[in-house]
Amino acid sequence: MFAYTDFIPNVTKSGGVVFALTNRYGGYSQPPYDSLNLAFHTGDEIAVVERNIAHSLEAFKKLDLRYVNAQNLAYMTQIHSTHCALLEENLYEGEARQNNGAINVGEADALVLSRTHMPAMVLVADCNPILFFDKTHNVAALIHAGRKGVFGEICSLTLARMSEHYDTQASDMYVFVGAGIRKCCYEVGDDVCVELGYREQYIEIREGRYFLDLESMLKAEFENLGIMDYYFLPRCSSCDREFFSYRRDGVTGRFALMAMLV
Ligand SMILES: [Zn+2]
Repeated sequence: MFAYTDFIPNVTKSGGVVFALTNRYGGYSQPPYDSLNLAFHTGDEIAVVERNIAHSLEAFKKLDLRYVNAQNLAYMTQIHSTHCALLEENLYEGEARQNNGAINVGEADALVLSRTHMPAMVLVADCNPILFFDKTHNVAALIHAGRKGVFGEICSLTLARMSEHYDTQASDMYVFVGAGIRKCCYEVGDDVCVELGYREQYIEIREGRYFLDLESMLKAEFENLGIMDYYFLPRCSSCDREFFSYRRDGVTGRFALMAMLV
């Protein structure tokens, strides 16, 4: 069910953020979505995905000792954009697709959470699932950062949005980056090297092939922003069969980084 779980308290220790990275085990989907596929758009059966989500949400809620009765898990229609939405605003404006236990908040690739006991998730299979947590203001964000998102600096835009609405400072921030495809596996073509331009230090060349290092790009972006408290889970979704990998498997499921403020 979960590959990693954690709780980061806020500065007053009165609350914090609970988060969990799911793996592909413990769900109900059949191959090639076996078994804990949490995404509707993959071609998997809707009713089975709903069951997987409800099952994951139950397990996730138990990570908080206060045991809250959150009924819904919010998620985005992720489109590889740099659009950052506020859950508070989008809950009621979204396309309001309410499957069993899940609320779609519309198209976005970053979602800011500001209310406690309202869980949300970001779905991935090779892209980086990222949690931002502002320990001072008890505000969080979930980010979907694949190549397009990282190149478009979605993390910087998310911090700007949090600063604008909640006065978040980089020094307030804790960042968690879950499993994603790493430079061991992420082969790219000439076109991507050209798009990177002068930032060629993020391409590793092995036997005449090019491999992109999104982890180093993200670290540089965080440090440039002044975020020093970050952790990258040392797991590659493509190497590690505990996770779904779009690059490795093509038609497959999605795993999630789930987060909830308490
Ligand atoms: Zn790898």
